Amino acid sequence: MVNGVKIANELSKNDTEGFIPHQEIYDLLEKTKNPDPREVRDILAKTMERERLSTYETAVLLNTEDPDLIEEMFQTAKKIKQQVYGNRIVLFAPLYVGNECINGCVYCGFRVENKELVRKTLTDEELNNELYALTSRGHKRLIVVFGEHPMYSPEYIAGVINKIYEFKNGPGEIRRVNVNAAPQTVEGYKTIKEAGIGTFQVFQETYHLPTYKKLHPHGPKSSYTYRLYGLDRAVMAGIDDVGIGALFGLYDWKFEVMGLMYHTKHFEERFGVGPHTISFPRMEPAVNTPIAENPPYRVSDYDFKRLIAIIRLSVPYTGMILTAREAPEIRREALDMGVSQIDAGSSIGIGSYSEEDPEEVKKSQFILGDTRPLDDVIYELASNGYIPSFCTSCYRAGRTGEHFMEYAIPGFVKNFCTPNALLTFQEYLMDYASPKTKEVGETLIQRELNEMPEGRRHMVEGLLERVKNHEHDVRL
Ligand code: SAM
Ligand code: SF4
Repeated sequence: MVNGVKIANELSKNDTEGFIPHQEIYDLLEKTKNPDPREVRDILAKTMERERLSTYETAVLLNTEDPDLIEEMFQTAKKIKQQVYGNRIVLFAPLYVGNECINGCVYCGFRVENKELVRKTLTDEELNNELYALTSRGHKRLIVVFGEHPMYSPEYIAGVINKIYEFKNGPGEIRRVNVNAAPQTVEGYKTIKEAGIGTFQVFQETYHLPTYKKLHPHGPKSSYTYRLYGLDRAVMAGIDDVGIGALFGLYDWKFEVMGLMYHTKHFEERFGVGPHTISFPRMEPAVNTPIAENPPYRVSDYDFKRLIAIIRLSVPYTGMILTAREAPEIRREALDMGVSQIDAGSSIGIGSYSEEDPEEVKKSQFILGDTRPLDDVIYELASNGYIPSFCTSCYRAGRTGEHFMEYAIPGFVKNFCTPNALLTFQEYLMDYASPKTKEVGETLIQRELNEMPEGRRHMVEGLLERVKNHEHDVRL
């Protein structure tokens, strides 16, 4: 028992629903059907007052089916995103280190039964080649991804993180390493924390216990409860930034959004702060994986946008990650609905940043929807008025919970986040951008400067000048 809460530190044979009260969720989703439009509008007004929604209110939004009200929901989510966070989009890249796995998640190309998958773990030299390729394109933030295997011990993961931070490629370097790997023991997390991890992500995949049991037939991941409390152990080990997520397509999307809300609530009640980020991947095709071709609860593009808007409205101070699983068109539409981070220029074959590999798909967990190069995505973002940001300032200054500060501290975004985003963007333009990206980028930066009050503008101009004189890592 820790803080009065039972922790499943051992693999539990008798999984329980933990803090996901299934019956309560069914009841809430039932009793909020066909909501009165006035009630929906009251809830939207409440979100504009920057109030966190209750699980009942989230259920009302989930049950809103009237297209006009849904459009109002989209517009409100956009306003919150704009007013609270401004127009920054943080960019990162996934780095798949190894695809060995002992689990049997039926939707994943890495599952142990998949004989068509080519198994591979990067050697030190291959890791360096990947880092060379990533930093040569301008990446500064990575998420390293592992299958679940005894080879990928906490010491091994920590070793990979250390090697990444040590790597230098002229001005190129990785400044923040996040991890997506199997949940660890408290001791294991402590080892990984020592290496200077940013966020540790563990997705519950589905919050629906019966579905979870069906889709995770064996291996350590077959325990729902062990995974559900997986990030509690991370926080207990001192990792402040944790990322939760659900894999959409496995079960009813409305139930999964409720699961994410109860998970957030659990963190708030237990640790006084919610998760750093929420991810909401949709299932993608994977080699020799029939269920991924035909998800049992496929989420349409329209419902996908609804769920993004509802998460934004329900927990306005949590970072939201939209991955390159999605095709460019839907990424474009989803962006202004409240997303704060995207990956770009991603490649998810093991070793595929540094080498063209005809077998890439056979080494991949799934198939990406957006394979455009980083510079193309940055060009598009800047052309559409978003500031591409590689900022790692909060993490490196020891300011954890940055999304909460962005939300809760008046002026934080304007005084810190936007200037830092501009500085990292200027650095990218100096070192890596194509001429056309440089041109739209410089125009965007100038426009942002013009909108600042004079004092701040002078200060930021001074810092940008240092970047233009090839000083690196200038930040507030
Ligand atoms: N093996 C660890 C685990 O399962 O937690 C680490 C990460 S796994 C490589 C990364 C995530 O990919 C999983 O948590 C799951 O949500 C997602 N994933 C698995 N199969 C997928 C598919 N077919 N399409 C999209 N995402 C998938
Ligand atoms: Fe292994 Fe993770 Fe894939 Fe499951 S989702 S098979 S644990 S890599």
